[in-house]
Amino acid sequence: MAFVEFENVGKTYQMGEVKINALHDATFQIEKGELVVIVGPSGAGKTTLLNILGGMDALTTGKVLLDGRDISGMDRRELTQYRRMDVGFVFQFYNLIGNLNALENVELANQICKHPLPAAQVLKDVGLEERMKNFPSQLSGGEQQRVAIARALVNNPSMIIADEPTGNLDPQRSLEIMMLLERINQLGTTVLVVTHEKDLVNKFQKRVITLERGIVVSDGIGYNMR
Ligand code: ADP
Repeated sequence: MAFVEFENVGKTYQMGEVKINALHDATFQIEKGELVVIVGPSGAGKTTLLNILGGMDALTTGKVLLDGRDISGMDRRELTQYRRMDVGFVFQFYNLIGNLNALENVELANQICKHPLPAAQVLKDVGLEERMKNFPSQLSGGEQQRVAIARALVNNPSMIIADEPTGNLDPQRSLEIMMLLERINQLGTTVLVVTHEKDLVNKFQKRVITLERGIVVSDGIGYNMR
């Protein structure tokens, strides 16, 4: 059994009279320790897919399993535990708390976990040993994203889910963030990352799942946008 299993997953949003099929019959597996990139045009269902896998949104049809556990069948309490223990989230706009310094932002996250890693060590691991006492406004975009990645890692999750983590960064900073995610992956964490950046994806030659209009249209190595 694969680590992540999407079985015929559908998600329909009802907007008054209108139904939006954000995901349709999505089926794929991800092995433990893989790094998978999700690409596709705006509105293709990428965020919906990550949110369902991250336990932040419910599916309409199908099933999602993580390590054999049925996420789609979990109640609210189980989902809260799942989000805290199993998943680390990284977002495009970092979502750091402005009046806490880098170390405090990471420590805040590790207070809700049973087996956290030391916050200072994780910040050092992402290359921010010298910047721990800086507030987000004193850090560059790339550095803020490193803090956000440290915050995602501090609970020692089995999987990192990153939604456009380089969407707000210049090409060099984007490359560095992707290399950091690759290094994290090489240390054993499964990584799923959404990005629009074709050149960046092709530098890494990783597995790419392409979504279009909620449908998985390709799944293979490298970016094959039609
Ligand atoms: P992507 O991340 O690829 O840009 P999304 O997953 O955000 O795509 O959205 C997929 C589709 O679902 C879009 O048509 C979007 O407008 C719609 N959608 C997303 N979230 C909601 C929501 N909460 N309510 C209604 N429609 C939504």
